[in-house]
Amino acid sequence: MRNLVLILGDQLDRNSAAFDGFDLASDAVWMAEVAEEATHVWSHKARIVIFLSAMRHFRGWLRQQGYTVDYHALDDPENGGSFASELARAVRRHQPQKLVVVEPGEWRVLQSLKRTARQLGVPLEIRPDRHFLISIDDFKRHAAGRKQLRLEFFYREMRQRTGILMEGKQPLGGAWNFDAENRKAFGKQGPGLVPQPIRFAPDAITQEVIRLVETHFPNHPGSLRDFDWAVTPEQAEQALDDFIENRLPLFGPYQDAMWTGEPYLYHSRLSSAMNLKLLDPRLAIQKAVDAYRQKRAPLQSVEGFVRQILGWREYIRGVYWLHMPEYLECNALHADANLPDFYWTGETDMNCLREVIGQTLKHGFAHHIQRLMITGLYALLLGVHPKQIHAWYLAIYVDAVEWVELPNVYGMSQFADGGLMASKPYIASGKYIQRMSNYCAGCRYKPEKAVGEDACPFTTLYWNFLMRHEQAFESHPRLGQQIRNLRRLSEADREAIRRGAESLCE
Ligand SMILES: Cc1cc2nc3c(=O)[nH]c(=O)nc-3n(C[C@H](O)[C@H](O)[C@H](O)COP(=O)(O)OP(=O)(O)OC[C@H]3O[C@@H](n4cnc5c(N)ncnc54)[C@H](O)[C@@H]3O)c2cc1C
Ligand code: SF4
Repeated sequence: MRNLVLILGDQLDRNSAAFDGFDLASDAVWMAEVAEEATHVWSHKARIVIFLSAMRHFRGWLRQQGYTVDYHALDDPENGGSFASELARAVRRHQPQKLVVVEPGEWRVLQSLKRTARQLGVPLEIRPDRHFLISIDDFKRHAAGRKQLRLEFFYREMRQRTGILMEGKQPLGGAWNFDAENRKAFGKQGPGLVPQPIRFAPDAITQEVIRLVETHFPNHPGSLRDFDWAVTPEQAEQALDDFIENRLPLFGPYQDAMWTGEPYLYHSRLSSAMNLKLLDPRLAIQKAVDAYRQKRAPLQSVEGFVRQILGWREYIRGVYWLHMPEYLECNALHADANLPDFYWTGETDMNCLREVIGQTLKHGFAHHIQRLMITGLYALLLGVHPKQIHAWYLAIYVDAVEWVELPNVYGMSQFADGGLMASKPYIASGKYIQRMSNYCAGCRYKPEKAVGEDACPFTTLYWNFLMRHEQAFESHPRLGQQIRNLRRLSEADREAIRRGAESLCE
């Protein structure tokens, strides 16, 4: 054998650079389902199913195209459960002259592949991942010499570089972003009838994988009853079309809104398909821009959606590869509390957390503002150790892959990197949650109260967070108002808040 081409579970890209120059007669593809990837964090069952099902569908497509695929199934009795064991088995069997792989999405996996190839004495060729709109090297060039990295500068550069939503050198519509128009809540009347996203009922392959996961990982969190995620490129494109047609027009204004019983609202639900590489981000962007040009969606929504993909998604990946592996050790706020057990069960009397964690266990999904301002915010205010909350986020969502999960958690949500990625910690009291959702209406706590029997834990912990970090943040340009408000509290108020926070931490 000439080349053994390694296709990892999050590299299911039919146009992957891994296939460049592939010779059907003398090359083969290697794919392996390994238990290690489901257990190194305690993965939600739906996360395991989506990876394995998408991999098996991809195997089917490869074989149809005439590729030889050496596929190591999870329940193969000889499966040793790790990349290293399975790669060693394949190399012994095929004796390839070379291994070929596209840049893995996780630093840990890259190290493991390099180490294994070295031990086996086979050269490993690592090819760039063309799925992304900017290469890791180009991002490093963008970062070089800058004192601070900020999404806004990067995003504008990407717009100029690609010409997306541009009129010559100027942004289309005269503004780079429409954030101020994109922070609407639904008000008391609620969202009304939200178009429900297209569902994909499990086919025979997915059903087989569901049985496998229930057998091998019965104690893992989450349910598979409602599994309906896209697992092929065709389904991913249908999901994209459904979003563009039915939800994109209101995506912008209601991006930050939350509502009981509405896990998706106007969000696209495309992250898992993109992260598995079933969906090309260029296609998602192009279809959204076409919708604007054909007057099927307003600019504020289209720009908001493009910003998430062309801006945030690429920026986050750049930050990950720029700072790994040191990034994993950041803990700028010296957080050391344990993650509360209810993150794995949803059993809490805080209605917002019960709702968001409950929906997460059911679907393996929460939308951005739920991740940032409910589960993320509570962990930040409580002072949960970054590694513990990172392990939870990496385990619990169907779209979780470390390159995208880690900077979102450490940088955006927990401020563990001390501001390398985001300009301020996203902190708020229960009143923010009351404004942006209806969760508080069904809760035993009062969002405006910081002390007392019915004080909202978010509000107590919010003030306590400011007290704990008062000195560190007193000259922060974007937290000045919050620190000034804190300084209006009497010593007696502070003491009562401190006691309330202590009992919450216990
Ligand atoms: C604490 C925390 C953890 C997160 N973990 C993950 C994760 O493991 N995997 C993941 O893909 N996203 C993660 N995100 C980002 C974001 O929340 C999800 O991408 C989004 O909720 C997915 O839902 P959607 O496809 O409906 O997105 P939409 O709201 O419809 O946005 C469109 C697309 O933009 C991209 N996008 C949006 N926001 C971000 C962002 N902040 N970073 C990167 N891409 C973004 C996604 O590809 C998404 O599909 C996390 C955010 C936070 C705050
Ligand atoms: S009152 Fe506090 S705990 Fe209850 S739902 Fe509102 S923010 Fe959450």
